[in-house]
Amino acid sequence: MSSGLHKKIYGLIGYPVKHSLSPRMHNAALRALKINAEYKLFPLKENKIRSFLKDLENKNIFGLNVTVPHKEKVIPFLDKLSKEVRLIGAVNTIKRVGDKLLGFNTDGEGFVRHLTRDLKFNPKGKAIAVVGAGGAAKAVSVYLSKSAPKKISIYDTDKPKAKNLINHLKKNFKNNTEFFYLDTLKDLDTKNIDLLINATPLGLKRSDPLPIKPEFLHKGLLVYDLIYNPKETRLLKLAKKSGTKISNGLGMLLYQGARSFEIWTGRIAPINIMRKSIMEAI
Ligand code: NAP
Repeated sequence: MSSGLHKKIYGLIGYPVKHSLSPRMHNAALRALKINAEYKLFPLKENKIRSFLKDLENKNIFGLNVTVPHKEKVIPFLDKLSKEVRLIGAVNTIKRVGDKLLGFNTDGEGFVRHLTRDLKFNPKGKAIAVVGAGGAAKAVSVYLSKSAPKKISIYDTDKPKAKNLINHLKKNFKNNTEFFYLDTLKDLDTKNIDLLINATPLGLKRSDPLPIKPEFLHKGLLVYDLIYNPKETRLLKLAKKSGTKISNGLGMLLYQGARSFEIWTGRIAPINIMRKSIMEAI
């Protein structure tokens, strides 16, 4: 029997997926650990999710990443959900064990791993502000809440979304963290904030306005933009100029992928090889 027949398949479902860096990152890791497997892209329209997930065994697929717009939509087709998925309400990693599908979310963990390991920022006791209250903000703020920061404040132009997220965090985290809904950006008192996260899509395009006012930036702040392409958004460029510490979202992408890899393979992810593969692509 040829090795091709034994080859395990992993991959990414979403729509569109063609610009994803995940195949580079995961195939580099699979090669480095000499695992006979390949990571592929599976562009999938919503009406095909059910039939695709039912057929994983026939396709020899053992694990999947899930990206927009399917992160919530896959949930009804899974057999078991991790605690994080139940808190975040979205899945970015599926593991197939026999005919059972297990759902995980590694986005928030990826963010916090990058923050603590590479940026040496410990969220415990810190004041954090998040601009944006969509899927990424939810994953990040849920995971940050586990580390008992002093406070988390959230602003979104979609006010009910920000209010709902704050209420969700208040209900689920009864540690000493204070959660604040910001009605306007003027309430974003960055002088007393340690970490500012841009979790909006503002910055993807060069012509986008800034998500905050430039005068909010100061040297005591770490500005983390979840966007990684472009590598430096207008916000990060401006923050860097004013001496503020900055990070783009590449580290989050890397560590969420590493965690998915570990869930699928049970092996420690070769993080430096994965990092190199995506740095070369950006
Ligand atoms: P999303 O679900 O669309 O959420 C974005 C939120 O930002 C929406 O609620 C949106 O409100 C809000 N928003 C838009 N403009 C705003 C403004 N000026 N001020 C405040 N809020 C504003 O998107 P997502 O999936 O959470 O992704 C957010 C960003 O994170 C994207 O740029 C994505 O590329 C990035 N991301 C990075 C990683 C990584 O691994 N690094 C992972 C996931 C996501 P409306 O709905 O009203 O527009």
